[in-house]
Amino acid sequence: MVRERSESLYKEATRLMPGGVNSPVRAFRSVNDTPFYTERAKGAYLFDVDGNSYLDYVSSWGAIILGHADDGLVNVIKKAVEDGTSYGVCHPYEVEIARLIIDAFPSIELLRLTSSGTEATMSAIRLARAFTNKQGIIKLRGCYHGHVDSLLVKAGSGLATFALPDSSGVPEDLAGHTYIGEFNRIDTIRKIVKEHTDISCLILEPIMGNMGVILPEKGFLADAQEVCRKEGILLICDEVITGFRVTYGGAQHVYDIKPDITCLGKIIGGGFAMGAFGGRREIMERLAPLGDTYQAGTLSGNPIAVRAGVHTLEYLRDHRDRYELMEQRVELLRNQIGRMAEKYAVPYRINGTTGMFTGFFSKREVNDYESATGCSRSLYERFFKLMLQEGIFFAPSQFEASLITLCHQEKEITQTLEAYEKIFDIMRTEL
Ligand SMILES: *Cc1c(COP(=O)(O)O)cnc(C)c1O
Repeated sequence: MVRERSESLYKEATRLMPGGVNSPVRAFRSVNDTPFYTERAKGAYLFDVDGNSYLDYVSSWGAIILGHADDGLVNVIKKAVEDGTSYGVCHPYEVEIARLIIDAFPSIELLRLTSSGTEATMSAIRLARAFTNKQGIIKLRGCYHGHVDSLLVKAGSGLATFALPDSSGVPEDLAGHTYIGEFNRIDTIRKIVKEHTDISCLILEPIMGNMGVILPEKGFLADAQEVCRKEGILLICDEVITGFRVTYGGAQHVYDIKPDITCLGKIIGGGFAMGAFGGRREIMERLAPLGDTYQAGTLSGNPIAVRAGVHTLEYLRDHRDRYELMEQRVELLRNQIGRMAEKYAVPYRINGTTGMFTGFFSKREVNDYESATGCSRSLYERFFKLMLQEGIFFAPSQFEASLITLCHQEKEITQTLEAYEKIFDIMRTEL
């Protein structure tokens, strides 16, 4: 596979931008590779500047669900652009998307749009602190909630790969208000709550996506909710990945919990920059202009992003059967690949649910931060590079979810399974 033009673009990029990229994981550093440069995308595929195509399991980190350049969406956007790209004042589509999201999430009574998931979690935390008049927050190790100062403490994603517990530049005072619990370990949350009285909220990914996919064990989320209710701590569910992906009403619908605040992003912008947070009326009413908690955005509710979002959500709402298909496809991958891993004796475990999965190079079950960090990054690196050679793009890090779209259909699943068979056969000889 020739990547000449990509290589020269990357070289130029590193002269102009830190690490050559606008978001760290795109540099492919944790798999000791260099990025390909995408020229266009269609359906489940990316096409690079050297004429290579890749079956895409990153799907813009989950922002794409209909498939790239979906025809219906493209038409909506063309029309939207002709009507103006930003107004900075109210428009009817923001009312429409608010109604769609509130109808899908019974826990959300009032909603505010932002331009990213990071802004949503940042604002949700400010609001929780304002509402409870407390400063502490509980975050779970390995969960990633965007690059918010208080949340860049034991984060997952790019940071997990780089094995940096923290980011520089985060004031110690601020990090000192963040208490770290463990996903799937309710005792760690109970302990923090018992020892500290200044806690405003617990923020979590209901299904971990940023350490790779880790599902909540039975009762974990309900227990977390109960601890919060009892102690007057707000539960913030970060559904930036899971919202409208694991089912129309998100992970909170699947696990039957009712968070006080929910954060959304990725899918709701239909591939444009958008996030949102919403929750109980009395909490959300603390936001300006009603209340004393300031939050704003020049491009919040951008008409192009909102119209792309409305189209995406309406499509998903009217085609719920697509979720069953996405569930079946992930199931099929998990079963078949699991069987292959056994056949070739490759230490490989796949966690997954509707629309998302992660294969970990691990001998044991991966169900928490500890077991996730225990898996083999060098095997993942080999896997990543072999897959890329086969024209399949998995995330350039072990600690990410693989995210499918409605365009990942039988042909794509077959292509994936064939590549796995070939690659496990190679890897077996190298173990
Ligand atoms: C991607 C992500 C964010 C951050 O969203 P951005 O739009 O990248 O700022 C927050 N939380 C979770 C769970 C995410 O996966």
